[in-house]
Amino acid sequence: MDASRTNLLGASQEDISAVVEELKEAPFRVRQIFAGIYRRGLSDWDQFSDLGKPLRQRLGQQYTIEYPPVIKTFHSGDGTRRYLFEVSPGQRIEAVLIPERQRDTVCISTQVGCAVECLFCVTGKLPMRRNLSPGEIIGQILTLQKERSREEKRLNIVIMGMGEPLHNYDNVMKALRLMTHPSGMSISPRRITLSTSGVVPAIERLAREPVVPNLAISLNATTDEVRDVLIPINKKWNIAALLQACRDFPLERRRRITFEYVLIDRVNDTPADARRLVDLLAGFRKKINLIPLNSDPWVPLKAPDEDRILAFQKILIDNRITAPVRRPRGDDISAACGMLAGREQPRADPHNPPPRPARPSTLVRLGI
Ligand code: SAH
Ligand code: SF4
Repeated sequence: MDASRTNLLGASQEDISAVVEELKEAPFRVRQIFAGIYRRGLSDWDQFSDLGKPLRQRLGQQYTIEYPPVIKTFHSGDGTRRYLFEVSPGQRIEAVLIPERQRDTVCISTQVGCAVECLFCVTGKLPMRRNLSPGEIIGQILTLQKERSREEKRLNIVIMGMGEPLHNYDNVMKALRLMTHPSGMSISPRRITLSTSGVVPAIERLAREPVVPNLAISLNATTDEVRDVLIPINKKWNIAALLQACRDFPLERRRRITFEYVLIDRVNDTPADARRLVDLLAGFRKKINLIPLNSDPWVPLKAPDEDRILAFQKILIDNRITAPVRRPRGDDISAACGMLAGREQPRADPHNPPPRPARPSTLVRLGI
């Protein structure tokens, strides 16, 4: 990090206007700089061929375009690539590139750690450190963009890595505006999905934004009793309140809400759960992603056997619900989003205490 110069990664068009004004340059420079950073992915002022050398030098004296540094990459046999970033000393986050035949999906993080502390999630076991800035969020996408193959595949963004995006609302919204800006990355909001554990007031606020991504809700349980234990913020906003916010969420034509349901053996995977899920979500335009739990030594739970997974799925399909089972990609390099960075936090550092263990009483409440 170069403390004497300001990092422009994450700057909006308005921020860049202020820079251009300060330098007493013509207003059309704003668009050139903005497009250079976000559309062309430039990070060195010398590459801004349209600016002229004197301006490039003046910019270089005061400003940088600095990406969050990648400290490790992991390539999996199925093509999935994971990138571990160190955003501050000892603070690591990850982004994942998932190439598919028709499209590439990029999964990004929004916080270092997460305050929601879901029982089944490795990120939730880490102490919540801080929110990522708009530049750190968008920098993950720009880094991965450079790693994509040249062929013109469509790009999908999923905000499903480490952190609860709606706990970092303002920075995530700034990053979203940069992703979708027509002079910048120009990604359609229809290709962006934000996943939340259910921060109800923030879902209501999101519904009123000019740029609205697709919404994914980590539901993961069909009763408040179980959801309270799995996702502690359910005690504040329960299933009924969450689903009401989803009903009020404006859906454009052809859009639907994705409900994520992590299947956990004997906790939320019974036929009765499946039937309750059908009833709870009746009337929604939806898709339910069934995600068998990715196990981890830090997580005191396990995935159901295959026959239980398929029996659960069958009840949904018999009710004409789209309900794919999402097999983890890249599981040979540590499965779900967030899990890798969770394992890769430095352990010996006193500023990085060990993960919080699950309290025995919690497991008793789940009956396991
Ligand atoms: N905080 C947001 C987004 C990040 S978590 C949220 O909770 O929605 C992204 C997804 O990973 C969530 O749907 C979550 O339920 C799921 N997830 C977390 N831990 C998991 C695990 N151990 N196995 C499978 N899925 C997990
Ligand atoms: Fe946070 Fe999402 Fe993990 Fe829950 S599942 S702890 S909300 S990252």
